[in-house]
Amino acid sequence: MTEQPHQLEIRNLHAAVGDQPILKGVNLVVPRGELHAIMGPNGNGKSTLAKVIVGDPEYTVTEGEVLVDGVSILEMEPDERARLGVFLAFQYPVEIPGVTIANFLRLAMQARKPEGEEVSFSEFYGKLTNALKTLEWDESIVERYLNEGFSGGEKKRNEILQMLMLEPNYIIMDETDSGLDVDALKVVAKGVNSLRGPNLGGLIITHYQRLLNYIVPDKVHIIVNGRVVQSGGPELAQKLDTEGYDWVKQLAAAGD
Ligand code: ADP
Ligand code: MG
Repeated sequence: MTEQPHQLEIRNLHAAVGDQPILKGVNLVVPRGELHAIMGPNGNGKSTLAKVIVGDPEYTVTEGEVLVDGVSILEMEPDERARLGVFLAFQYPVEIPGVTIANFLRLAMQARKPEGEEVSFSEFYGKLTNALKTLEWDESIVERYLNEGFSGGEKKRNEILQMLMLEPNYIIMDETDSGLDVDALKVVAKGVNSLRGPNLGGLIITHYQRLLNYIVPDKVHIIVNGRVVQSGGPELAQKLDTEGYDWVKQLAAAGD
């Protein structure tokens, strides 16, 4: 068997809600070891891209491919995608009443194990202690119910906790910075940066450049009207910060 590339590849991806096309040919390659930022004006398909990658049934893929380590995932259920190590942090995390964070984390870790392999208590507890330390979070938090009564900042921190526990191969973070103050932003960034290394790839989706001061991306791509209209290094995010999005919208219009 030939060696498969360790990368997330999005190839000519078209997706729609009902008969309304939203993604119109997105091409991206994110090797493991790199974090790429996806930026763009609101309403242009950033969240749709994230949701299609994790398999949200609301969206129909009409053309193209999503390949994780060379394997097409579009026919897979969301939990199969998660088992491949694809992790999504939502813009609006859900509440799950009656499930404590500790239980949820344990179940989520177990779900990623191959059949017949158990998550040991020492593995679980060791990881949990480290993760909580990174996030500067008190241990008592894990006895609370998932997201119930959490502030925006606590929900985001909890997602990063999940990420640290699950050690995904690919993370998709959709506007994880929205509604966070600088202190919470720094904690989120610290968690993500602690996972960075040759095994982690991912997309950091954000409208604002602010988060990228703390999580410096390897590349930046701008999505307008369902397509990547420009790619570059971190300096591209700086440019958007100072010049806004008007010039990219013009680029997109010229491309139509
Ligand atoms: P972004 O994340 O860049 O702000 P989205 O991907 O959320 O953009 O949305 C892109 C476009 O698709 C918007 O016009 C939005 O209204 C539309 N859209 C996204 N999801 C849905 C949906 N579930 N139902 C109807 N329209 C949707
Ligand atoms: Mg969005």
